[in-house]
Order: sequence, then structure tokens, then C-alpha cells
Amino acid sequence: MKSPISEIFSSIQGEGTLIGRRQIFVRFSGCNLDCKYCDTLNSKDKNFGGLLTTTDVVNKIDELMTPDLHSISFTGGEPTLYPEFINEVISKINTKNSKIKSLLETNGSLYREINLLNGIDYASVDIKLPEHFNTINTDIFENELKSIELLIRKKVSVYCKLVVLPSTRIDDVEDIVIRLSEIITDNSVPLIIQPSSPIVHWKGKEKKVLELSETCGKYVEVLTIPQVHKCIGLD
Ligand code: SF4
Repeated sequence: MKSPISEIFSSIQGEGTLIGRRQIFVRFSGCNLDCKYCDTLNSKDKNFGGLLTTTDVVNKIDELMTPDLHSISFTGGEPTLYPEFINEVISKINTKNSKIKSLLETNGSLYREINLLNGIDYASVDIKLPEHFNTINTDIFENELKSIELLIRKKVSVYCKLVVLPSTRIDDVEDIVIRLSEIITDNSVPLIIQPSSPIVHWKGKEKKVLELSETCGKYVEVLTIPQVHKCIGLD
């Protein structure tokens, strides 16, 4: 089995609840969405990088192992385009090594593919806003909700990630967080508000960050975390 992989590298997780953890990142090429703020433009193209087998990926992971490794991140692009491939990589890693944890970083729009995944320990599910796209597609948010419900049922430790821009409307955020709170009833799925990079764009808009947190905090557990890895010049 082969999948398009743009890169495999070791770094520090700079987003979400696993922030600061050493990870090996397996970045898939190809994405089914086209977000305006995408910071992995090359990986959106499924022809970027090379076609690798699951054995190639596992061998590269072995090469990159460090004593502080916390988990493998399957990221992209959109990794859930390749569920069988991810299952096979996880199975091979865990046969060779004692269990290594895995994180899925997904846009959450492909819930049928997410349902096919096995052995994922953590999941970061994006919550997209209408302003993230040039054309409105209400199915995306509904599918994200289905993905979150599925992952909770699979006992995966889930957090949601909402990228906000200085122009983001508080009302739009409140509408989606109300819907989110209907499926997260016990604070088990925190919402990460991620102010868009570069952080210099937020100069003079700091109050907006607090307002967004206060609005979301009425309905769900909320944390505000910018992309920390970029502050120290890491990928
Ligand atoms: S879902 Fe992620 S990889 Fe795909 S276009 Fe949006 S930001 Fe880029």
C-alpha cells in the first residue's frame, strides 16, 4: 500500500493540548478542503512529495526516534484521506516497538474515513468557520460534529481547534460553539482558540482574543493557544 507523503520529521508539537510534546510528524499530501489561512500549501497538493509504502514510513519513524518521543502525529494536508494506510502504519509500529501513542490532526470533514481508523489515542479536530472559505459549505461543520461524536465513542482523547482571524465575528463563533456544546456535555473535549499566525497581526486586537474566550467559555471548556513552535523557529 502506498500514500502520498510530503515529509516525515521530528519536532515539538506547537498546537493544542499536546503542546510542548516531542513528536514525529507524518505529513500526508492532499486535502479535500481549501482554507484561506492554510499554512501547509504544498501539502494540499496530493502530487507534492513522494509515494511511500507503510514500510518506508515505519523505517523513517525508527530513524527519527528520540528518548523524549511522546507520540506520532498523522497530519497533512488531510490524513483521513488515507485511513487504511494509517491503520497499517500504527499496526507495524506497535509490532516493532512497545505501544507508541498517536495523534490524528484532521479537518474533521471526512467522518466516514474517520470511522475506519483504529488505534488513534488523540485527535485534534478543526472547527471551520464560513469565513475560512471563499464559498459557503454548511456540510463541513455538520460533518465535523459527526467526526467528534465518532471519536468520543471510540474513546479517543479529542480536542477541537478553532483558528480565529482578527476579522472573525464573535456571533459566528458563538453560533458554532452552541452547536458544539450540544454534543460535548461533560467538558471532556476542550476547545482551543488558535489566533492565526503571524501573531503580529493581532497587535491592537488583544481584547478580541479575550472576548472570544469569554464567549466560548459560556458553553465549553476553552483554552487560547497560538502556534508556539513558530515562536522558536521550528516546523
Ligand atoms: S484543511 Fe488544513 S491542509 Fe486542508 S486546506 Fe485547510 S488548513 Fe490546509
